Amino acid sequence: MKPATKFIHAGAEPDPSTGSIMTPIFQTSTYVQEAPGVNKGFEYARSQNPTRKALEEALAIIENGKFGLAFSSGVAATDAVIKLLTPGDEVICANDMYGGTYRLFTKVFERFGIVFKYVDTTNTKNVSDAVTLKTKLVWLETPTNPLMNITDIAAIASVTKGKNILLAVDNTFASPALQNPLDLGADIVMHSVTKYLGGHSDVIQGALIMNDADLREKLYFIQKSCGAVPGPMDCFLVLRGIKTLGVRMKAHCENGAKIANWLRHHSKVGKVYWPGFEDHPGYAVAKKQMKDFGGMISFELKNDSVEEAKRVLSSTHLFSLAESLGGVESLINHPASMTHASIPREERIKNGLSDSLIRLSVGIEDADDLIEDLKKAIG
Ligand SMILES: *Cc1c(COP(=O)(O)O)cnc(C)c1O
Repeated sequence: MKPATKFIHAGAEPDPSTGSIMTPIFQTSTYVQEAPGVNKGFEYARSQNPTRKALEEALAIIENGKFGLAFSSGVAATDAVIKLLTPGDEVICANDMYGGTYRLFTKVFERFGIVFKYVDTTNTKNVSDAVTLKTKLVWLETPTNPLMNITDIAAIASVTKGKNILLAVDNTFASPALQNPLDLGADIVMHSVTKYLGGHSDVIQGALIMNDADLREKLYFIQKSCGAVPGPMDCFLVLRGIKTLGVRMKAHCENGAKIANWLRHHSKVGKVYWPGFEDHPGYAVAKKQMKDFGGMISFELKNDSVEEAKRVLSSTHLFSLAESLGGVESLINHPASMTHASIPREERIKNGLSDSLIRLSVGIEDADDLIEDLKKAIG
């Protein structure tokens, strides 16, 4: 089945009791049992919920995986993966990641004796050099937030394969419409469903998708034991969001390309970070592993001052000043003071994230209106 069809039909069987074409919102905490221990596969809603089950099946199908698990947020999904590990285990991860992932690793899990090694994963050799006998997980994010760095997933998979090292990829920025890491050799795909999968800025949710049944059992055990499950209403909203993922991503990509090119030719704009530029260092890999380049763009101003960046950030009207991304409406964000404020300034600057960097989540409005808005704001 082609992706556009999958997005609409994945996990969507008519409700057997009524024929309802849409999956009902099973707003229940428990299920009546016919006799002690005799049930219809649903015992208690932390462990099983039919709305969540339909969503988890949909998530698996659209990521070309066998199993999906939904969590109450993206970071809860990441948290579940790290809970597969035991003290002393080592994780190799990107030095340019979503700030909340970095915070979870450094501020929570380091205290439990998990060792994180931060490397530039865009160079595969940095990852292979960091592998030791204690390495149990490689955690990738590509494209990265906010610098749009691209890591070659298949190349990293060739490093982890056969070594008892799991490869997990945060696929939030690309979405399953543009990139499918399991096809490239990853063991686990993680999503902040909050972003493109939900697509309408109205839900917080996370997901994990995998092929291995044992791995699914371990992660399901963590999901039900630790309890970071999403409610049925949120699962319903995401099932609805997924139906339009194909058309939304097409529009995000078209608008993203127009705006990235417009920014690049603006006299007051400095560097523009977007993997669709042929001179982007990750262009060849992005072209190989992604179907299109997405609607996330970062840029610097030639006047590289925080004040000027803040002036632009406060001057747009269609682009709303907010954290998050991936919704139908355009957002503008200042990583240094907003999404990435949890990374110490020194670390940020070292990794190329300047104080004046501006990040755009390009929505699906008319591109001309969006460009007009940026034109007035940048001046
Ligand atoms: C937002 C985000 C997360 C965290 O997801 P939440 O749903 O906010 O918990 C993780 N990774 C990336 C790339 C993100 O953009």
